[in-house]
Amino acid sequence: MASTAKTPITVCEVGPRDGFQMEDRFIPTDRKVEIVNGLLAAGLRRIQVTSFVSPRAVPQLADADAVMAAIDRPEGAVFSALVPNARGAERAAAASVHAMNVFCSASETHNRKNVNKPIGDTLEGFRDVAAIAQDAGIALTGGIATAFGCPFEGDVPVEQLVTMARFYRDELEIGHIGLGDTTGMATPKTVRAALGALREVVPDMHIGLHFHNTRGVGLANVMVGLEEGITYYDASIGGLGGCPFAAGATGNICTEDLVYLLEESGYETGVDLDALIAVSKKTEAVIGRNLPGQVMKAGPRLRLHPVDAVRTAAG
Ligand code: ZN
Repeated sequence: MASTAKTPITVCEVGPRDGFQMEDRFIPTDRKVEIVNGLLAAGLRRIQVTSFVSPRAVPQLADADAVMAAIDRPEGAVFSALVPNARGAERAAAASVHAMNVFCSASETHNRKNVNKPIGDTLEGFRDVAAIAQDAGIALTGGIATAFGCPFEGDVPVEQLVTMARFYRDELEIGHIGLGDTTGMATPKTVRAALGALREVVPDMHIGLHFHNTRGVGLANVMVGLEEGITYYDASIGGLGGCPFAAGATGNICTEDLVYLLEESGYETGVDLDALIAVSKKTEAVIGRNLPGQVMKAGPRLRLHPVDAVRTAAG
């Protein structure tokens, strides 16, 4: 008998980290907690809650410890946080995260701008983080930022992704890597090339994809990921976030739009779309501006309208 089971896809919500960190105005801690709890209530079980960076570097996330302490912890929830160094790892362990995420840019120029260190030194520095995570029994994942292009250097060679993936696997015993399209330069072609190269050299590694919708092709890139068998995608509620190199640009791919696409394509996310849309609208209210998400405006496709309710136009 043919199986009718849908393929489960993991949607990791990164808005509370990747999105919030782009907001200039400080979002009160209890508002952050409400949004995370809303995401959990909508069924999301993977959330990158915050970043344990220096509060001076990212004042918006200075309340990382307080947010982690206050959010709900429903069965099956997996909370991760970015951890740049040993100090951050100690804070993250004390805050009982389930996974620490280290990340390094694939381009030297971007990495220097970001952390003022060469790639080699950045990766070596993660050994301390790995030791702290291991002692605490906390999972560690490795991110590769600007994996599909760098705003300073242009194209990133796939060999660079392979080298970094190997370091994560062989030196830090990391099993899951995330490919970050930090400034929205990925295209279906570059995504396919990167996944093909990685599969050949590190076929045992689990890969997650992190797309930004800066140029409007985020979900097209997801379709390529799905064709290539990738079952893990980052997204942000309402498409929260932005791009430091493009004023007014959109942020990560939008969680509701991604969930809608996946569910309508026969995949299973475990997320209640209506509940998610409600969180998206709440997030708009909290940050005080409109978000770029599409499905939050139009609603699910079979949310039918009364025939007389709206003006119709031909064509
Ligand atoms: Zn990002």
